[in-house]
Amino acid sequence: MQQCTVDENCENEASSTFTWAWGEQGACCDAHRALLESKAQQLNRSISFEAVAATRRDYKRPTLQQLDPELGKLRMENASLREELQRQQATIANLEIRNAELQGEVDKRRLPGAEVESVIEGRPPPVERAPIEPPNKRR
Ligand SMILES: [Zn+2]
Repeated sequence: MQQCTVDENCENEASSTFTWAWGEQGACCDAHRALLESKAQQLNRSISFEAVAATRRDYKRPTLQQLDPELGKLRMENASLREELQRQQATIANLEIRNAELQGEVDKRRLPGAEVESVIEGRPPPVERAPIEPPNKRR
């Protein structure tokens, strides 16, 4: 691990490396980075910082840990939404069948004569019905 080089007495690990406008380089902890930034402002000279490798790993790891549960959660939501969709499609299919059944039932009840007629038209008149009609004509 790299140590802060700004102050010999600083025992902190360096979180960044810095490069002054005039080329001087070093490593600094977070506390000394803030000090260097204000020093750069006072001097009106630029200083650039780069996170050290260890810090980069530390930075990436939590990002992945945050991303994975998020992805897992979204995948689970997606899966449950698909299940829900399938359930609803099955329900719709069942309701459509039921609707067709009920519609057939309604048609039968609404037009009782139509069905009887069609049966009569389609087939020869039933034998029992034949005697019913002639008495009407005789009146
Ligand atoms: Zn330091």
